[in-house]
Amino acid sequence: MSIPSFTLNTGAKIPAIGLGTWKSAPGEVTAAVKAALQCGYRHLDCAFAYGNEAEVGQGIKESGVPREEIFITSKLWCTYHSDVEAGLDASLKELGLDYVDLYLVHWPIALNPKGNDPKFPTLPDGSRDIVKDADYSQTWKGMEAVYKKGKAKAIGVSNLSVPKLERLLKDAEVVPAANQIELHPLCPQQEVVDFCHKHGILPQAYSPLGSTESPILKDEHLAKIAEKLNCSVSNVLISYQVQRGVCVLPKSVTPSRIEQNLKIVKLGDEDFKFISQMHGGKVHRFVKPNWEPFKMEFPDWE
Ligand code: NDP
Repeated sequence: MSIPSFTLNTGAKIPAIGLGTWKSAPGEVTAAVKAALQCGYRHLDCAFAYGNEAEVGQGIKESGVPREEIFITSKLWCTYHSDVEAGLDASLKELGLDYVDLYLVHWPIALNPKGNDPKFPTLPDGSRDIVKDADYSQTWKGMEAVYKKGKAKAIGVSNLSVPKLERLLKDAEVVPAANQIELHPLCPQQEVVDFCHKHGILPQAYSPLGSTESPILKDEHLAKIAEKLNCSVSNVLISYQVQRGVCVLPKSVTPSRIEQNLKIVKLGDEDFKFISQMHGGKVHRFVKPNWEPFKMEFPDWE
Protein backbone atom coordinates (compact mmCIF):
# COMPACT_ATOMS: atom_id res chain seq x y z
CA MET A 1 0.00 0.00 0.00
CA SER A 2 1.48 3.34 -0.92
CA ILE A 3 1.21 6.02 1.78
CA PRO A 4 1.30 9.68 0.72
CA SER A 5 3.87 11.92 2.32
CA PHE A 6 4.32 15.57 3.26
CA THR A 7 7.54 17.54 2.88
CA LEU A 8 8.96 19.22 5.96
CA ASN A 9 10.58 22.67 5.83
CA THR A 10 13.93 20.83 6.04
CA GLY A 11 13.18 19.18 2.68
CA ALA A 12 12.72 15.75 4.28
CA LYS A 13 9.69 13.62 3.43
CA ILE A 14 7.42 12.42 6.21
CA PRO A 15 4.77 9.72 5.66
CA ALA A 16 1.27 11.20 6.13
CA ILE A 17 0.30 8.40 8.55
CA GLY A 18 2.42 7.39 11.53
CA LEU A 19 1.76 4.84 14.28
CA GLY A 20 0.99 6.45 17.67
CA THR A 21 2.48 4.73 20.72
CA TRP A 22 1.00 6.53 23.74
CA LYS A 23 -0.62 4.08 26.20
CA SER A 24 0.71 1.16 24.14
CA ALA A 25 1.73 -1.12 26.99
CA PRO A 26 5.38 -2.21 26.97
CA GLY A 27 4.19 -5.82 26.62
CA GLU A 28 2.20 -4.97 23.48
CA VAL A 29 4.10 -2.23 21.73
CA THR A 30 6.97 -4.34 20.34
CA ALA A 31 4.49 -6.53 18.46
CA ALA A 32 2.48 -3.47 17.37
CA VAL A 33 5.54 -1.71 15.94
CA LYS A 34 6.69 -4.88 14.21
CA ALA A 35 3.22 -5.46 12.71
CA ALA A 36 3.02 -1.83 11.58
CA LEU A 37 6.41 -1.82 9.88
CA GLN A 38 5.73 -5.18 8.25
CA CYS A 39 2.40 -3.98 6.79
CA GLY A 40 3.86 -0.79 5.33
CA TYR A 41 4.10 1.91 8.02
CA ARG A 42 7.33 3.90 7.82
CA HIS A 43 6.56 6.47 10.50
CA LEU A 44 6.47 6.01 14.30
CA ASP A 45 5.42 8.63 16.84
CA CYS A 46 7.18 8.06 20.16
CA ALA A 47 7.99 9.97 23.34
CA PHE A 48 10.19 9.58 26.40
CA ALA A 49 7.13 10.16 28.59
CA TYR A 50 5.33 7.10 27.17
CA GLY A 51 7.78 4.87 29.05
CA ASN A 52 7.94 2.33 26.21
CA GLU A 53 10.69 3.54 23.88
CA ALA A 54 12.94 0.53 24.60
CA GLU A 55 10.14 -1.80 23.46
CA VAL A 56 9.50 0.38 20.40
CA GLY A 57 13.21 0.04 19.58
CA GLN A 58 12.91 -3.72 19.94
CA GLY A 59 9.97 -3.74 17.50
CA ILE A 60 12.03 -1.78 14.98
CA LYS A 61 14.83 -4.35 15.24
CA GLU A 62 12.48 -7.32 14.99
CA SER A 63 10.71 -5.90 11.93
CA GLY A 64 13.81 -6.24 9.78
CA VAL A 65 13.05 -2.87 8.14
CA PRO A 66 16.25 -0.82 7.76
CA ARG A 67 16.47 2.16 10.13
CA GLU A 68 16.99 4.65 7.31
CA GLU A 69 13.63 3.71 5.76
CA ILE A 70 11.72 4.69 8.92
CA PHE A 71 10.73 8.20 10.03
CA ILE A 72 10.99 8.24 13.84
CA THR A 73 9.75 11.05 16.08
CA SER A 74 10.44 11.42 19.77
CA LYS A 75 9.65 14.19 22.25
CA LEU A 76 11.47 16.16 24.89
CA TRP A 77 9.81 15.60 28.23
CA CYS A 78 9.01 18.57 30.52
CA THR A 79 11.67 17.70 33.12
CA TYR A 80 14.39 18.07 30.46
CA HIS A 81 13.73 21.62 29.19
CA SER A 82 16.93 22.92 30.78
CA ASP A 83 19.02 20.11 29.23
CA VAL A 84 17.59 19.20 25.82
CA GLU A 85 20.54 17.04 24.81
CA ALA A 86 20.21 14.90 27.94
CA GLY A 87 16.50 14.42 27.16
CA LEU A 88 17.23 13.40 23.60
CA ASP A 89 20.10 11.12 24.65
CA ALA A 90 17.76 9.33 27.09
CA SER A 91 15.31 8.62 24.24
CA LEU A 92 18.04 7.59 21.79
CA LYS A 93 19.43 5.14 24.34
CA GLU A 94 16.01 3.59 24.94
CA LEU A 95 15.17 3.41 21.23
CA GLY A 96 18.64 2.06 20.37
CA LEU A 97 19.19 4.78 17.75
CA ASP A 98 21.81 7.43 17.10
CA TYR A 99 19.41 10.03 15.68
CA VAL A 100 15.70 10.76 15.40
CA ASP A 101 14.05 12.17 12.29
CA LEU A 102 11.98 14.65 14.28
CA TYR A 103 12.31 15.81 17.87
CA LEU A 104 9.43 17.77 19.40
CA VAL A 105 9.09 19.75 22.61
CA HIS A 106 6.24 17.69 24.09
CA TRP A 107 4.55 20.51 26.07
CA PRO A 108 5.51 24.19 26.43
CA ILE A 109 5.90 23.61 30.17
CA ALA A 110 9.05 23.00 32.19
CA LEU A 111 8.73 20.74 35.23
CA ASN A 112 11.30 20.76 38.01
CA PRO A 113 14.17 18.48 36.90
CA LYS A 114 15.19 18.01 40.55
CA GLY A 115 11.69 17.43 41.91
CA ASN A 116 10.21 14.43 43.73
CA ASP A 117 9.61 12.43 40.53
CA PRO A 118 11.68 12.18 37.32
CA LYS A 119 8.61 12.64 35.08
CA PHE A 120 5.76 14.14 37.10
CA PRO A 121 7.19 16.03 40.09
CA THR A 122 4.64 17.50 42.46
CA LEU A 123 4.61 20.11 45.22
CA PRO A 124 3.56 19.27 48.78
CA ASP A 125 -0.03 20.34 47.96
CA GLY A 126 -0.16 17.75 45.15
CA SER A 127 -0.06 20.27 42.28
CA ARG A 128 2.49 19.93 39.46
CA ASP A 129 5.99 21.22 40.25
CA ILE A 130 6.20 23.69 37.35
CA VAL A 131 9.25 25.90 36.77
CA LYS A 132 7.28 29.15 36.69
CA ASP A 133 9.99 31.41 35.27
CA ALA A 134 11.14 28.94 32.57
CA ASP A 135 11.98 30.62 29.26
CA TYR A 136 10.63 28.64 26.30
CA SER A 137 12.97 30.42 23.88
CA GLN A 138 15.89 28.96 25.87
CA THR A 139 14.41 25.47 25.47
CA TRP A 140 14.17 26.16 21.75
CA LYS A 141 17.86 27.15 21.66
CA GLY A 142 18.62 23.72 23.15
CA MET A 143 16.50 22.16 20.38
CA GLU A 144 18.40 24.14 17.74
CA ALA A 145 21.68 22.86 19.20
CA VAL A 146 20.74 19.16 18.88
CA TYR A 147 19.49 19.86 15.35
CA LYS A 148 22.82 21.43 14.41
CA LYS A 149 24.65 18.44 15.91
CA GLY A 150 22.61 16.12 13.67
CA LYS A 151 21.09 14.11 16.54
CA ALA A 152 17.65 15.33 15.41
CA LYS A 153 17.19 15.68 11.63
CA ALA A 154 14.30 18.08 12.22
CA ILE A 155 12.92 19.84 15.31
CA GLY A 156 9.43 20.93 16.17
CA VAL A 157 6.90 21.65 18.87
CA SER A 158 3.74 20.18 20.27
CA ASN A 159 0.69 21.66 21.97
CA LEU A 160 1.51 25.20 20.83
CA SER A 161 -1.28 27.73 20.37
CA VAL A 162 -1.06 30.59 17.86
CA PRO A 163 0.15 33.24 20.40
CA LYS A 164 2.89 30.88 21.58
CA LEU A 165 3.94 30.07 18.00
CA GLU A 166 4.07 33.78 17.17
CA ARG A 167 6.35 34.43 20.14
CA LEU A 168 8.59 31.49 19.27
CA LEU A 169 8.97 32.59 15.65
CA LYS A 170 10.17 36.05 16.73
CA ASP A 171 13.33 34.62 18.33
CA ALA A 172 13.79 31.32 16.49
CA GLU A 173 16.78 30.73 14.27
CA VAL A 174 15.25 27.44 13.07
CA VAL A 175 11.52 27.49 12.22
CA PRO A 176 9.80 24.46 13.81
CA ALA A 177 9.20 21.74 11.23
CA ALA A 178 5.99 20.53 12.89
CA ASN A 179 3.42 21.33 15.57
CA GLN A 180 1.70 18.25 16.99
CA ILE A 181 -1.72 19.07 18.46
CA GLU A 182 -5.04 17.39 19.22
CA LEU A 183 -7.01 17.28 15.96
CA HIS A 184 -10.24 15.44 15.14
CA PRO A 185 -13.70 16.61 14.08
CA LEU A 186 -14.63 17.71 17.62
CA CYS A 187 -11.37 19.65 17.97
CA PRO A 188 -10.56 21.13 14.54
CA GLN A 189 -8.31 24.00 15.75
CA GLN A 190 -8.51 25.52 12.27
CA GLU A 191 -6.73 28.72 13.38
CA VAL A 192 -3.66 26.74 14.49
CA VAL A 193 -3.71 24.58 11.34
CA ASP A 194 -3.93 27.71 9.14
CA PHE A 195 -1.12 29.46 11.03
CA CYS A 196 1.11 26.39 10.67
CA HIS A 197 0.44 26.06 6.94
CA LYS A 198 1.16 29.77 6.44
CA HIS A 199 4.54 29.49 8.18
CA GLY A 200 5.73 26.20 6.66
CA ILE A 201 5.10 24.23 9.86
CA LEU A 202 3.49 20.82 9.33
CA PRO A 203 0.44 20.32 11.58
CA GLN A 204 0.28 16.82 13.04
CA ALA A 205 -2.93 15.30 14.43
CA TYR A 206 -2.72 13.53 17.76
CA SER A 207 -5.73 11.60 19.06
CA PRO A 208 -7.16 11.66 15.50
CA LEU A 209 -9.70 8.96 16.37
CA GLY A 210 -10.75 10.65 19.61
CA SER A 211 -8.30 8.70 21.81
CA THR A 212 -9.22 5.77 24.09
CA GLU A 213 -12.94 4.74 24.16
CA SER A 214 -13.65 7.31 21.48
CA PRO A 215 -17.27 8.37 21.01
CA ILE A 216 -16.39 9.66 17.51
CA LEU A 217 -15.73 6.14 16.25
CA LYS A 218 -19.37 5.33 17.12
CA ASP A 219 -20.88 8.37 15.37
CA GLU A 220 -23.73 7.21 13.14
CA HIS A 221 -23.25 9.93 10.48
CA LEU A 222 -19.59 9.01 10.12
CA ALA A 223 -20.63 5.35 9.94
CA LYS A 224 -22.85 6.19 6.95
CA ILE A 225 -19.99 8.00 5.18
CA ALA A 226 -17.74 5.02 5.88
CA GLU A 227 -20.32 2.57 4.54
CA LYS A 228 -20.69 4.64 1.37
CA LEU A 229 -16.92 4.69 0.84
CA ASN A 230 -16.55 1.01 1.76
CA CYS A 231 -14.15 1.70 4.61
CA SER A 232 -14.14 2.06 8.41
CA VAL A 233 -14.91 5.21 10.44
CA SER A 234 -11.23 5.30 11.41
CA ASN A 235 -10.35 5.53 7.69
CA VAL A 236 -12.76 8.47 7.31
CA LEU A 237 -11.19 10.27 10.30
CA ILE A 238 -7.62 9.66 9.14
CA SER A 239 -8.35 10.56 5.50
CA TYR A 240 -10.11 13.75 6.62
CA GLN A 241 -6.90 15.00 8.25
CA VAL A 242 -4.70 14.07 5.29
CA GLN A 243 -7.13 15.87 2.97
CA ARG A 244 -6.79 19.06 5.06
CA GLY A 245 -2.99 18.90 4.85
CA VAL A 246 -2.42 17.36 8.27
CA CYS A 247 -0.10 14.45 9.13
CA VAL A 248 -1.99 11.83 11.22
CA LEU A 249 -0.85 9.62 14.11
CA PRO A 250 -3.46 6.93 14.89
CA LYS A 251 -2.51 4.62 17.76
CA SER A 252 -3.36 0.95 17.92
CA VAL A 253 -1.87 -2.20 19.37
CA THR A 254 -4.30 -4.40 17.41
CA PRO A 255 -2.66 -5.72 14.21
CA SER A 256 -5.92 -5.81 12.20
CA ARG A 257 -6.68 -2.15 13.12
CA ILE A 258 -3.08 -1.08 12.50
CA GLU A 259 -3.37 -2.42 8.96
CA GLN A 260 -6.91 -1.09 8.47
CA ASN A 261 -5.84 2.45 9.45
CA LEU A 262 -3.43 2.72 6.50
CA LYS A 263 -6.21 2.95 3.91
CA ILE A 264 -6.85 6.47 2.65
CA VAL A 265 -10.13 7.36 0.97
CA LYS A 266 -11.16 10.50 -0.94
CA LEU A 267 -13.96 12.40 0.79
CA GLY A 268 -16.43 14.27 -1.39
CA ASP A 269 -17.00 17.99 -0.79
CA GLU A 270 -20.27 17.44 1.05
CA ASP A 271 -18.86 14.82 3.43
CA PHE A 272 -15.72 16.91 4.01
CA LYS A 273 -17.88 19.92 4.88
CA PHE A 274 -20.08 17.85 7.18
CA ILE A 275 -17.06 16.52 9.09
CA SER A 276 -15.58 20.04 9.32
CA GLN A 277 -18.77 21.27 10.98
CA MET A 278 -19.41 18.35 13.35
CA HIS A 279 -18.06 20.28 16.35
CA GLY A 280 -20.99 22.71 16.12
CA GLY A 281 -18.84 25.58 17.36
CA LYS A 282 -17.87 23.81 20.60
CA VAL A 283 -14.41 22.33 21.01
CA HIS A 284 -14.15 18.98 22.80
CA ARG A 285 -10.66 17.92 23.87
CA PHE A 286 -9.89 14.38 25.02
CA VAL A 287 -6.37 15.33 26.19
CA LYS A 288 -6.37 18.22 28.64
CA PRO A 289 -3.86 17.87 31.47
CA ASN A 290 -4.07 20.35 34.31
CA TRP A 291 -1.05 22.63 33.96
CA GLU A 292 -2.42 25.37 36.26
CA PRO A 293 -1.37 28.14 36.69
CA PHE A 294 0.36 27.90 33.28
CA LYS A 295 -1.76 29.28 30.43
CA MET A 296 -1.91 27.25 27.20
CA GLU A 297 -3.50 30.20 25.31
CA PHE A 298 -5.83 28.08 23.17
CA PRO A 299 -9.17 29.94 22.88
CA ASP A 300 -11.10 26.99 24.35
CA TRP A 301 -8.64 25.89 27.04
CA GLU A 302 -8.82 28.38 29.91
P1 NDP B 1 -6.17 7.74 18.91
O1 NDP B 1 -7.11 8.83 18.54
O2 NDP B 1 -5.15 7.32 17.95
O3 NDP B 1 -7.06 6.51 19.37
C1 NDP B 1 -6.49 5.34 19.89
C2 NDP B 1 -7.63 4.41 20.31
O4 NDP B 1 -8.39 4.01 19.17
C3 NDP B 1 -7.11 3.15 20.96
O5 NDP B 1 -7.99 2.81 22.01
C4 NDP B 1 -7.18 2.12 19.83
O6 NDP B 1 -7.40 0.83 20.37
C5 NDP B 1 -8.38 2.59 19.06
N1 NDP B 1 -8.34 2.29 17.62
C6 NDP B 1 -7.30 2.45 16.77
N2 NDP B 1 -7.62 2.09 15.53
C7 NDP B 1 -8.91 1.66 15.56
C8 NDP B 1 -9.80 1.14 14.59
N3 NDP B 1 -9.44 0.99 13.32
N4 NDP B 1 -11.05 0.80 14.99
C9 NDP B 1 -11.44 0.96 16.28
N5 NDP B 1 -10.63 1.44 17.25
C10 NDP B 1 -9.38 1.80 16.90
O7 NDP B 1 -5.54 8.16 20.33
P2 NDP B 1 -4.20 8.64 21.00
O8 NDP B 1 -4.64 9.57 22.06
O9 NDP B 1 -3.36 7.49 21.34
O10 NDP B 1 -3.44 9.53 19.90
C11 NDP B 1 -2.63 8.98 18.89
C12 NDP B 1 -1.16 9.27 19.11
O11 NDP B 1 -0.89 10.67 19.13
C13 NDP B 1 -0.61 8.79 20.47
O12 NDP B 1 -0.51 7.40 20.55
C14 NDP B 1 0.68 9.56 20.52
O13 NDP B 1 1.64 8.97 19.70
C15 NDP B 1 0.24 10.92 19.98
N6 NDP B 1 -0.18 11.84 21.07
C16 NDP B 1 0.58 12.95 21.31
C17 NDP B 1 0.26 13.85 22.29
C18 NDP B 1 1.11 15.05 22.49
O14 NDP B 1 0.95 15.74 23.53
N7 NDP B 1 1.97 15.40 21.57
C19 NDP B 1 -0.92 13.66 23.16
C20 NDP B 1 -1.70 12.50 22.80
C21 NDP B 1 -1.34 11.63 21.80
P3 NDP B 1 -6.30 -0.38 20.34
O15 NDP B 1 -4.95 0.20 20.56
O16 NDP B 1 -6.77 -1.23 21.48
O17 NDP B 1 -6.44 -1.06 19.02
